[in-house]
Amino acid sequence: ITILAIESSCDETAAAVCTDGKILSNIIATQKVHEQYGGVVPELASRAHMENIVPVVDAALKKANITTAAIDAVAFTQAPGLIGALLVGSQFAKSMALALNKPLISVHHMQAHVLANLLLDNPPAFPFLCLTVSGGHTQIVLCESPTQMKVIGETIDDAAGEAFDKTAKILGLPYPGGPLVDKYAKEGKAIYKFPEPKIDGLNFSFSGLKTSILYFLQNAGKSNVYKEEYIATEAERKAFIEDNLYNICASVQERIISILMNKVKLAVKQTGINRVCIAGGVSANSGLRTTLQQTGEQLGWQTFIPAFEFCTDNAGMIAITAYHKFLANDFAPLSITPSASSSMNA
Ligand code: ATP
Ligand code: MG
Ligand code: FE
Repeated sequence: ITILAIESSCDETAAAVCTDGKILSNIIATQKVHEQYGGVVPELASRAHMENIVPVVDAALKKANITTAAIDAVAFTQAPGLIGALLVGSQFAKSMALALNKPLISVHHMQAHVLANLLLDNPPAFPFLCLTVSGGHTQIVLCESPTQMKVIGETIDDAAGEAFDKTAKILGLPYPGGPLVDKYAKEGKAIYKFPEPKIDGLNFSFSGLKTSILYFLQNAGKSNVYKEEYIATEAERKAFIEDNLYNICASVQERIISILMNKVKLAVKQTGINRVCIAGGVSANSGLRTTLQQTGEQLGWQTFIPAFEFCTDNAGMIAITAYHKFLANDFAPLSITPSASSSMNA
């Protein structure tokens, strides 16, 4: 079974080809146009997808060394994401399925992030837990089979990726800041202690952390809470950030990781499942990858970490998800439309 998959939910235009669950090509065009705005501009994303989609699909077919005649189904990201961006990919996939007279498969982006773990040489057995940490989501998912999964915990405010990106923005680093915070954290020590939110059960909260970082910098490192008497001048703040950038990044990253890992430990305890995966853009974070692996060794878990190219947005994860939907005879009608938000609990 050969599947062509298309991903266009945000600011990556991506296409992949897989045959019988094996990825033959995984092409990603990251849109540069958003950098200057410090975040993704939806209308510009749609336009860039329109420019990129034909060359990206072409490149995926070429790299896989196939022609359109070899395609058995066309898959696309149906939700969630930016609606204009999703429309470009879905319209393209529908047209292609119609022209080739092949079935169409619709894929949920967050399910696909989870199933990126099935692309590992030694994939997890079912059931497993997955910590999905991305730009828009932070979830603990209980995955029973490729087509059955349930969110058992999630963020009540910001996503982990947002916490990274907003921290970077406050520090004056360019967008998206997550990878830079990761890079600088390696050079620093986690000497600043940011508070851990008190939130019951398996849910997460990151907005308090963001606020305390904001106050901490406003006070040029004197306090985590708002104190009028400590408000620093612009010059003092800049100097403080410059002198302490690496340690600040290390401290923030350590706190984000401890918030995530404490909930994962609780989820393992509550479910009795000790196969633990990570997924989503933040699973590219080197601190999180090492911490998960070390925690697994200490506590006797089996841990799974996708290759970098399958962590951030990509079409390989859409292809592997579509492959399992193909096997389950789960096809979409040509009348299907994308949606900006949608729960993945079936
Ligand atoms: P969603 O999947 O929730 O719709 P998205 O698709 O925009 O959101 P992804 O592409 O999966 O998200 O991930 C992007 C996020 O990952 C950004 O917030 C980015 O900063 C973060 N990220 C990428 N690499 C790293 C890293 N090394 N360390 C920390 N964060 C990172
Ligand atoms: Mg992106
Ligand atoms: Fe994503």
